[in-house]
Amino acid sequence: MKIIASNFKTNHTRATTAQFIHRIDKFMIDDNITQTVYLFPPSTALDSFETNQNLHIGAQNCHWVKSGSYTGEIGTQQLDEFGIKTILIGHSERRHTMGENQKDIAKKFNYFKALGYRIIYCVGEPLEQKQAGLSSTLGYIQEQFGGIDLTYDGLILAYEPVWAIGTGISCGIDDIATIHKKLAKKTTAPILYGGSVKQDNIKEIINIPNVDGALIGTASWVADDFVNIIKFCN
Ligand code: PEP
Repeated sequence: MKIIASNFKTNHTRATTAQFIHRIDKFMIDDNITQTVYLFPPSTALDSFETNQNLHIGAQNCHWVKSGSYTGEIGTQQLDEFGIKTILIGHSERRHTMGENQKDIAKKFNYFKALGYRIIYCVGEPLEQKQAGLSSTLGYIQEQFGGIDLTYDGLILAYEPVWAIGTGISCGIDDIATIHKKLAKKTTAPILYGGSVKQDNIKEIINIPNVDGALIGTASWVADDFVNIIKFCN
């Protein structure tokens, strides 16, 4: 059974998020979809959504506190209000745009692990490492495992090459297969692929050995498109 996740990033409002979730939930019930689907709306749109048991709402980010003085951040108090127990950690935009370093990412991982959260933990190499070859790519990813418990049973790993995220250029099928095979030797956690997954490549990507699902940004933001992607994976 595949896992499909949608990362809204900085898109959608409270109103359109609620419509989106309702649409996906109804589709899953009507079409008997039993795959696990995760949706990560922006934090302003989090709420107590009533969804079927296979549809989960997660947080794109949260600081490693319950509450306190961390201007611009949210803590678990704000997630507890809505019963949210799923979080994305290590996304490349948080690493490379927002400047989160591995030490902080590991601290965040361990905080949410201690609270029993489902963690989608993202790793992936920038273009420079990709161009330098496989051992450079694997070495880079290995560093992103620093301080991370790959045996945590709430872990879902996501391989997301930085150069493929939001660019429309997905990683080649053989390269995805190679990296996922290596990652599967390190963990028994499900491993998602992310990076320009869309309706016209999902079928091929989802059938690669050791690909347990997909984490999708851009191509998932229109509900009808995301419905098609879920259908293709079913
Ligand atoms: C992502 O943000 O995790 C992602 C994979 O984005 P996109 O699908 O747009 O490449």
